[in-house]
Amino acid sequence: MKKLIIANWKMNGSLRLLDEIAAATQGQFFANAEAVVCTPAPYLHALGQHKSFTPKTGAQNCASTANGAHTGEISAAMLAEFGVSYCLIGHSERRQSQLETNAMIGGKLQQLKDHSIIPVLCIGETQAERDHATWCAVLGEQLAILANQNPTPIVIAYEPIWAIGTGRIPTPDDIYEALAFIRTCVTTMGYPAGYLRILYGGSANAENAARLLSLASVDGLLVGGASLNPSQFAQIVANAG
Ligand code: PEP
Repeated sequence: MKKLIIANWKMNGSLRLLDEIAAATQGQFFANAEAVVCTPAPYLHALGQHKSFTPKTGAQNCASTANGAHTGEISAAMLAEFGVSYCLIGHSERRQSQLETNAMIGGKLQQLKDHSIIPVLCIGETQAERDHATWCAVLGEQLAILANQNPTPIVIAYEPIWAIGTGRIPTPDDIYEALAFIRTCVTTMGYPAGYLRILYGGSANAENAARLLSLASVDGLLVGGASLNPSQFAQIVANAG
């Protein structure tokens, strides 16, 4: 299966960056990798209409309900109309700053499934949870929203919170152990192996991408800061091939 590289621009970027990423990621990079760019919502239209943008269109969030009096929210149906094929949910920044709960994230998951957008469920533990060896329980709780569902294709992004934007990366053994735990949890909930891809996220960049992608259990990367640099992002996608 092709490695999956997802860019998370967070609240960064511009129309100009879209053009620069389009120019840097032309053609040959995509033989062996699937690339997705998750822009802020105002850029989704330009991304979908862009003449030479090869990566797929991704979003960073959606509402947990279908429609209604929810000022400022964006529904999964709207994302689908703009050609969004993947959407991040449960990013730790939203869990922290927007106080998103697992129940709310479960609602977003359902909305995405209803509109055939592949959810990219972000999960991860804090430094304290890793130090106190409670990371399994934390990841298990975050994954519990997948239980009792009709399985559909899903991407899980394992992003230790302490690795996001810090330049610190878990050891290969720790990544292997966390991904094995995630794979067991999700397949035990009835998801066929072919429906599940597990990404690593947290301080991935052009320098360490090849090493991270060579770990057998890593199906791809979720890339934040480095995805804002067109040549770094292009190199990460090239390394995935
Ligand atoms: C992220 O926040 O999803 C992320 C992976 O960030 P960074 O690559 O900057 O650590």
